[in-house]
Amino acid sequence: MQKDQLLTRRRALLTGAATLGAAGVAAALAPGAAHRAAPPAPPAAGAQAARRPLSPSEYRLSPLTGYGPPRSTTARTPVRKEPLLRVSGRGRTMVLTFDDGPDPRYTPHILDTLARYDVRAMFFVCGEMATEHRDLLARMADEGHVVGNHTWTHPLLTRLSRRRIRAEMERTCDIIEKAYGERPEWFRAPYGAWNRAAFQLGAELGMEPMAWTVDTLDWTTPGTDTIVERVEHGAAPGVVVLSHDAGGDRSQSVRALRDYLPELLDSGYHVTVPRRQYL
Ligand SMILES: [Zn+2]
Repeated sequence: MQKDQLLTRRRALLTGAATLGAAGVAAALAPGAAHRAAPPAPPAAGAQAARRPLSPSEYRLSPLTGYGPPRSTTARTPVRKEPLLRVSGRGRTMVLTFDDGPDPRYTPHILDTLARYDVRAMFFVCGEMATEHRDLLARMADEGHVVGNHTWTHPLLTRLSRRRIRAEMERTCDIIEKAYGERPEWFRAPYGAWNRAAFQLGAELGMEPMAWTVDTLDWTTPGTDTIVERVEHGAAPGVVVLSHDAGGDRSQSVRALRDYLPELLDSGYHVTVPRRQYL
């Protein structure tokens, strides 16, 4: 996508949020781990005026007119119509993401390589893996990585009822909170198969939808060199790279990271994690 289009989309989003009087959200890059967002800005002057004392008759209308404080804090996360495909930020920044884990056979090696180069990444974990390997989520927290929600069992969400999608998401948020220490702020649909329910429920649970820019297709085990080539060929400012640390033999993904990470850093890329900003 062109940069101009992205800017236009961000502006449209921000304008929409302002009209609604809700706090807008944008993705931005931070040098370190994700931080909890600041509270929303105070309401504008117009909103203050609307909060004048109500007469009894007006008061009865208040549930319909929407006066008063927001009903829930989850209104802070907008419901998007498509996932974020890349991140905004200054300079040559890139984000590495690893899905489907954690897996004790591969994830520790990936964490070792990231630690060696002092780089933070995102891990979109599945609840059923996370609950078995809570120590790895604790390590991700200790080392400043961002953990996102990738559902509990990795189903195709487009074939599930709303109730089951919510259960898949909510249960995974809970285990992440227990093992990682914070509820996730990001969600990624398995197979990149999004639908309206996924966007709505994700927002209700306070998560932004994140897809990717460059797919390494590492799950097809194309060979370490091919994975390296795909990352280096796709490298550009704002790019989000998709790889996997579980779901099969991921030794090629582990080896590829050892090759392309120092290459990206040598080329001047700042490899980091996104931060959500409430505006
Ligand atoms: Zn996946």
